[in-house]
Amino acid sequence: HYPEEIPTSISYDEKPLYAYLQDSAAKYEKKKALHFLGKELTYGELYEQVCSFASYLQGLGLEKGDRVAIMLPNTPQSVISYYGVLLAGGIVVQTNPLYMERELEYQLKDSGARMIVCLDILYPKVTNVKGKTDLEHVIVTGIKDYLPFPKNMIYPMIQKRQYKMVVHPEHGGDTHLFESIILESDGDVTPVDIDSKEDLALLQYTGGTTGYPKGVMLTHFNLVANAQMSLAWLYKSKEGEESILAILPFFHVYGMTAVMNYSISIGAKMILLPKFEAKDVLKTIHKEKPTLFPGAPTIYIALLNHPSLSKYDLSSIEACISGSAPLPAEVQEQFEQVTNGKLVEGYGLTETSPITHSNFVWGTRVGGSIGVPWPDTDSTIFRTDTLEQADVDEIGEIAVKGPQVMKGYWNRPEETANVMKDGWFLTGDLGYMDERGYFYIVDRKKDMIIAGGFNIYPREIEEVLYEHESIQEAVVAGIPDPYRGETVKAYIVLKQGSNVTEEELNEYCRKHLAAYKVPRMYEFREELPKTAVGKILRRALVDEEKKKVEEH
Ligand code: AMP
Repeated sequence: HYPEEIPTSISYDEKPLYAYLQDSAAKYEKKKALHFLGKELTYGELYEQVCSFASYLQGLGLEKGDRVAIMLPNTPQSVISYYGVLLAGGIVVQTNPLYMERELEYQLKDSGARMIVCLDILYPKVTNVKGKTDLEHVIVTGIKDYLPFPKNMIYPMIQKRQYKMVVHPEHGGDTHLFESIILESDGDVTPVDIDSKEDLALLQYTGGTTGYPKGVMLTHFNLVANAQMSLAWLYKSKEGEESILAILPFFHVYGMTAVMNYSISIGAKMILLPKFEAKDVLKTIHKEKPTLFPGAPTIYIALLNHPSLSKYDLSSIEACISGSAPLPAEVQEQFEQVTNGKLVEGYGLTETSPITHSNFVWGTRVGGSIGVPWPDTDSTIFRTDTLEQADVDEIGEIAVKGPQVMKGYWNRPEETANVMKDGWFLTGDLGYMDERGYFYIVDRKKDMIIAGGFNIYPREIEEVLYEHESIQEAVVAGIPDPYRGETVKAYIVLKQGSNVTEEELNEYCRKHLAAYKVPRMYEFREELPKTAVGKILRRALVDEEKKKVEEH
């Protein structure tokens, strides 16, 4: 089906991911790379600062393959840290800035990160868990202090805000200021030999089926391949001339590849927004005129429903790929009307860097479908019971093969083996393929909840609930929600004689979980539906809720 502009096969560069930045810095030295709160940084300046950061990390003793955590929203510092760690030979471990201590500690321990870059307001959280992890160094930054990017303008800002006050003197030896690094480091990076097909660029955490998150090992090659495929797919992109709206967070694989890496690979300008606020996004589009806007359904829905939508000019937008959840047809049509551009649905997972399928941006689109496999990407459907190839239109588990498929799960060979079959990666999503080769998602095999674009793993919340003294049994389910796609509901059986209230439970969960994971609803029951062997039937509860919605 491919239009003739898109090749079915590409020859991939066997280079480290950061070579994209080096190439763009050479080709587009004076062009803008980043735009943030009204200030801009060129490719030349960006690369210089990435070198400063990388050489400083090497000076701290970073060796090839060491893990460095990043805990930042979309800011220039998040881009500099990411490329700086890679250039120094390290492996990036992205963490969500909304994590609570318990979640952060788990991820730091599991990855064995030696260093972390975090926002100043997250510094107390990091220091509280530091002793229980392998962390040796903490690099701190503040959003506002870093605002005027060129080096000669950072210093007066630091002085003015007396930024050093933020850091405890007793942590002096292992706490470093991002701004000082950019100012003082010589930028002399010792080159590291990277075997792009073997060496990891990223440990990206995802929950999969087993509750606690696993580190997905993505190589430099995985990420370069997915960026090259993106350019083949978006063949109308003009190198050195596009600008991309960066609202998807870089700590999630989708924003990281489709926005950050893609932008740098084509020498585009990234317009960074640290957090989603519909009005800010509309204003930014109106003023900064981005041409590309990767997003998720909830983002497009929020913009379309904003009361002053018609006040803003969105006509600069040419292409948008929507991923992470099903894209409703009305949203696609309405958004295309207000932008005059194209909005198409795609699909992927953390384990696949992430994109594996999408509809054609300029060409045939099939509503309700995630589209066709990307170049060099094979996809098929396996019967869930026998793992034989399913027939056309028969529902089974979607499997993929391609250069973007992960190397495996970090330190978990058994779990890796569970999802690989004869070179196919089993996605855990149920779907089917029609006779034209278009794929459709039906349901998730795994129980992951996606609420407002965030991935939430029921078992993790259940474990917190089970730790509460009054709770006997708990199960958490994603129930349909008109705005967030799904929302988290907890069903609880209390121990005899206890009488905890919904408010108390909510307060308890807020203490132990990031806000987006905290259940929005609690229902107390005498008992929970179970299978013959006593496994709680989460699915039955979800079906009950779906029925209630249908009856209304
Ligand atoms: P993540 O690993 O965070 O990227 O989440 C991957 C999961 O998101 C997939 O396994 C799917 O369940 C879901 N997903 C991604 N894209 C779509 C889509 N277009 N429609 C439905 N579900 C999707």
